[in-house]
Amino acid sequence: MKSHTRVAVIGGGVVGCSVLYHLTKAGWKDVVLIERDQLTAGSTWHAAGGFHTLNGDPNVAKLQGYTIGLYDELERISGQSCGLHRSGGLLLADTPERMEWLKMAHARARYLGLETSLLTPSEAKALLPLIEERFFVGAMLDAADGNLDPYGTTHAYAKAARIGGAEIHQQTRVTDLVRRPGGGWDVVTTQGTIVAEHVVNAGGLWAREIGRMVGLELPVLAMEHMYLVTDEMPEVVAFNREHGHELPHAIDFKAEIYMRQERTGMVLGTYEKACVPWQPRQTPWDFGAQLLPPDLDRIAPSLELGFQHFPAMARAGIKRVVNGPFTFSPDGNPLVGPVQGLSGFWCACAVMAGFSQGGGVGLALSQWMVNGDPGFDVWAMDVARYGGWATRSYTNAKVRENYSRRFSIRFPNEELPAARPQQTTPLYDRMLAQGAVMGDSWGLETPLWFAPRGVAPRDVVSFHRSNDFPHVKTECLAVRSGVGLTEIANFAKFEVAGPGAERFLDRLMTNRMPRLGRLVLTPMLNEAGKLIGDFTIARAAPERFLIWGSSQAQIHHLRWFESHLPPDGSVRIHRFDLGLVGLAIAGPMARAVLERAPDEDVSATAFKFMEHRAMDVGNVPAMVNRVSYTGELGYEIWVAPEYQHTLYDALLEAGKPHSLVHFGMRALLCLRLEKNFPTWYRELRPIYGPFAAALDRFVELGKPEFLGREAALQ
Ligand SMILES: Cc1cc2nc3c(=O)[nH]c(=O)nc-3n(C[C@H](O)[C@H](O)[C@H](O)COP(=O)(O)OP(=O)(O)OC[C@H]3O[C@@H](n4cnc5c(N)ncnc54)[C@H](O)[C@@H]3O)c2cc1C
Repeated sequence: MKSHTRVAVIGGGVVGCSVLYHLTKAGWKDVVLIERDQLTAGSTWHAAGGFHTLNGDPNVAKLQGYTIGLYDELERISGQSCGLHRSGGLLLADTPERMEWLKMAHARARYLGLETSLLTPSEAKALLPLIEERFFVGAMLDAADGNLDPYGTTHAYAKAARIGGAEIHQQTRVTDLVRRPGGGWDVVTTQGTIVAEHVVNAGGLWAREIGRMVGLELPVLAMEHMYLVTDEMPEVVAFNREHGHELPHAIDFKAEIYMRQERTGMVLGTYEKACVPWQPRQTPWDFGAQLLPPDLDRIAPSLELGFQHFPAMARAGIKRVVNGPFTFSPDGNPLVGPVQGLSGFWCACAVMAGFSQGGGVGLALSQWMVNGDPGFDVWAMDVARYGGWATRSYTNAKVRENYSRRFSIRFPNEELPAARPQQTTPLYDRMLAQGAVMGDSWGLETPLWFAPRGVAPRDVVSFHRSNDFPHVKTECLAVRSGVGLTEIANFAKFEVAGPGAERFLDRLMTNRMPRLGRLVLTPMLNEAGKLIGDFTIARAAPERFLIWGSSQAQIHHLRWFESHLPPDGSVRIHRFDLGLVGLAIAGPMARAVLERAPDEDVSATAFKFMEHRAMDVGNVPAMVNRVSYTGELGYEIWVAPEYQHTLYDALLEAGKPHSLVHFGMRALLCLRLEKNFPTWYRELRPIYGPFAAALDRFVELGKPEFLGREAALQ
């Protein structure tokens, strides 16, 4: 092994090999892959090898489309067969709700340029005669579905990477990672140490343990997963003879099974409710190419339904049962990208569908490393979407929830219950007492809407109008005509201070920095001129700025800020997290409420729109922004958590004569949409520039320079 390399990729599963190949393709030739055992020795070797484009996040679906399209290129370059079977796949709906969900998936697929069509049950049966038609109401055909040979595909990536200049070291385990003072990493292995500028954690089943080498507890957990392979089935043989091609794949959401043809029989796998984590604390380093003992009782409920839905399967003999572990993040999407605070340490792990996602993960990560940006919208798999609240036991609960719901519908606005509440503000119980229906906002319980007395405080979700509709409407109308109060602790909050702070922010943001005591709204762009953030910024002191942004993206933004800090130490960044919590009041009567609380003049002329001020509100030292995301007259009031109760009481008292109501995030989001205020992560994503998103008025072209200026103009 050489002594230095630009990149050390740890892990020779399908994901590590894809990263290696894509790095060489992007032009970095000085790259090595280090594998503990032999290629595919983690979860890769025993995968069922299925691939599909279906994903809850359209951008991940697109990456899956890229992965599937890549296999022909790989075979051509490497000369290694991936063992492709492009059979197409059926998604079978058993209820009208599932059919609506498929219609949504179909519409998304069309937008993404993927080839899908909706079918009646008899059309589906014509394609897959094993179906007992009466159990289904319809289906979607996804032409891109298929399966491959996991071993061949991983080796095709590896061969193509070697052709591109990469080195691969097998039987070499990374035992430690030590940060070098001047940047880069000592990658300590059983065969000696190699110095790497960048390290990629593609450790699959051991990704968590590799994270621990650098002090990280990554939110990733392995689950046991079973599939069975049948003996030859006469129905399969007859179909192949008659049609001259294989049976399509199928997902039966009701039975929670997937199936496909394997030689002259079938493979049938389950995502069972009674799922079981594997090695929840520590993956043993000596776990080899082993399988786990099968437990058919656990998947019996799925099999029983499956045998009704596909009667021929009940008659088939079982040749083999495979039970193997593979990894998941809490939301089931991969963890990809640079880790905040650990320069040169990258993740490509928690990839639960390596043969659908591995190519896209490799492409995104390689572009990120080589160009400083993944090149498209990878938010749904950015490792920065989790914070410190995603602990090991949180991850365990969420991964189990996700696994057991793999084939369940996620309705619009549906909040999932596992591992909640995780974080709460001091007002949590008082909000519940007001009838708050809570949602999870980046691990924090946040009021979504308030159930009036006599109404059960819970969501009943639907693709149509859900039960919150009239109550959210009442809240919106009350804010528009009177005054409402809501909690805004879930916003991201940063302080940027120091002699270089203004210059630093001026370079990162499209707008000019505000004068003392003023606020500005400003997008933030990447080098390609695309939107990567949208903030409210206050100048609280000549060299001290306060920044509010999207809660979900706070680690993502902190990582970006830190990677652009000037080396001279003239800028300090602090993320408040829940050290700063807030309440907002909004509506035409908001000023009248505020006037009763502080010992200050907050009249329209004394405290103007887009001003920021430190003042006591009801005895409490607060920072107040004269701005409201509702688009109504309003104030955002920020205090330390120990003051939140006192502030709340003061505002309730002051609001009494004006019939102040509580409103939640859903009303806030409705009100801001009416005013056409976009929000990062929902409307504003890095696939748009600021002009396409109609943010022109926040782009100060008079400034000589800011990041992404030229690209955005072009
Ligand atoms: C039963 C089953 C069926 C599946 N079916 C499908 C399917 O149909 N379709 C699909 O897309 N996916 C399927 N999967 C999931 C798929 O296997 C995974 O998505 C994929 O294998 C993840 O690959 P990886 O490279 O991230 O991890 P892994 O395959 O686990 O690779 C990680 C590698 O890193 C190496 N490593 C770890 N630590 C070190 C270290 N310290 N030093 C050196 N090397 C190290 C390991 O030896 C290993 O080879 C299935 C999984 C199972 C268990």
